[in-house]
Amino acid sequence: MSQSLPGTSVAGVTRYGLFIGNQQIAPVDGEYLDVVNPATGKVWAQVPNASVKDVDMAVESARSAFEEGDWLGYRAADRAKFLIRFGEAIADNAEEIAQLQVNENGKLIREMVGQAKLMPEYFNYYAGLAQMPTGSTNPLHVKQMLNYTVREPLGVVAAITPWNSPLLLLVWKLGPALAAGNTVIAKPSEVTPVSAIRFAELAAEAGLPPGVFNVVTGLGSPSGSALTGHPGVDKIAFTGSTATGQAIASQAGKTLKRVSLELGGKSPNIVFSDADLTSAINGLVAGIFGASGQTCMAGSRILVQDTMYDQVVEEFVRRAEAIKVGDPQNPASEMGTVACRPQFEKVLSYIDIAKSDGARLVAGGTRAEVDGFPDGLFVRPTVFADVTNDMRIAQEEVFGPIASLIRFHDEDEAVRIANETQFGLAAGIWTGNVQRAHRVASRLRAGTVWINNYRKTSYATPFGGYKQSGLGRENGADALREYTEEKSVWVDTGQGVKDPFNPRA
Ligand code: NDP
Repeated sequence: MSQSLPGTSVAGVTRYGLFIGNQQIAPVDGEYLDVVNPATGKVWAQVPNASVKDVDMAVESARSAFEEGDWLGYRAADRAKFLIRFGEAIADNAEEIAQLQVNENGKLIREMVGQAKLMPEYFNYYAGLAQMPTGSTNPLHVKQMLNYTVREPLGVVAAITPWNSPLLLLVWKLGPALAAGNTVIAKPSEVTPVSAIRFAELAAEAGLPPGVFNVVTGLGSPSGSALTGHPGVDKIAFTGSTATGQAIASQAGKTLKRVSLELGGKSPNIVFSDADLTSAINGLVAGIFGASGQTCMAGSRILVQDTMYDQVVEEFVRRAEAIKVGDPQNPASEMGTVACRPQFEKVLSYIDIAKSDGARLVAGGTRAEVDGFPDGLFVRPTVFADVTNDMRIAQEEVFGPIASLIRFHDEDEAVRIANETQFGLAAGIWTGNVQRAHRVASRLRAGTVWINNYRKTSYATPFGGYKQSGLGRENGADALREYTEEKSVWVDTGQGVKDPFNPRA
């Protein structure tokens, strides 16, 4: 494989290139990374292991597209039309891009197709917002002066994304970034790089000028960190772990880049004894076992009121054990793999940690055997009961199918436990009491609160974290502000400027 060019395929392994200036190109140093299917353990693709020189090239391409290319002449209406066309291209190719992501991260085909079908809606929304008025005219304390503000694109945005929902999390950044007139360089996770390249190809086919959307594949370091340190990059839009988010924020601080961070969570899903139990259990199961628990918003701490604790544990365990873990390509499977071997090992290590901290294992706790997939990274849905909030399993983000059930006595204790974490991404409340629902929602330190539902997101409402779960918000109308600078313009509407030292002259 060492000499083959982007687009060639040898023995079932396709080699891709960096996507710069609307074409796939080989990396300068000629180094490639294997992309492994986590269900089969087989290498199916190779992508460039981008060096600093490749990153420089991508930044140059994005900068010149921003400063002097055709994109500069795009009115808001033109950007809106492009976003709608891109959405249509995604809809037409939804099965293919879903399939690529399943090959990359082992998530269920039905979930990935569902996400792909939703993406055009995000672009439609930001196409509309692109054309909305954004500035203001401001009454001043001085006479004969007009003041107005305009919002302008930031410039070059680096979108650094993780492997759990590779394209949806990219769309959350691309929609507002392109609507506002920026150019973008995506650095997908090394685990899920191919889908991003194909995505950029679709954007080019939909008519995006060269250099507006580039993809640099490679490792967090050097590729990712070359972007966060690059003086030609104006903003970093990042989703991933809190530790990497902290490193990025401090590196980006050296050039005072704009930064938005969507980071980890340890979200409480709180069940009060007056809840509709059937609905609550469905929400608990979806909250932690959806996507094999690999979501930032996973409801990984399940807080249950003591009067119904045993009943919830019993029913939740029954449901966890009934989940069909299997081939992610099979629409009948209910849970696929964990995305990559380091993550698989991390998940299994937390099972040992929880046991040695004294949590009671009541379901799962091992790798899952799946017929026909001897090397698949499958983990059984795992449940720990009698977890206390000081245990590591309750405080650290595992990002896998492990639920921790914690007992509480009353509302005050539930709120205290829920908030006793460094994270603040999301929370769920299950109760039939409307006053309690809103009262508790107002006391939870989390960016999203779901009442009698869980794990819902939309382009129309902001998503992001309190505390160490992030900085800034994605989605919703205000997300556009995260991709613009505000300029204040002063206009003299009077008789000209007087001599400052002799104003009567
Ligand atoms: P990371 O946060 O390390 O990676 C996310 C993205 O950042 C990837 O594209 C990664 O590249 C890139 N990156 C890594 N280091 C740097 C750097 N110094 N500068 C710039 N970019 C960088 O997550 P991992 O994939 O390593 O997963 C580790 C843990 O993170 C998981 O176990 C989970 O707990 C958490 N996580 C949380 C997510 C969330 O949505 N909140 C999403 C994914 C993971 P590369 O892939 O090449 O390392």
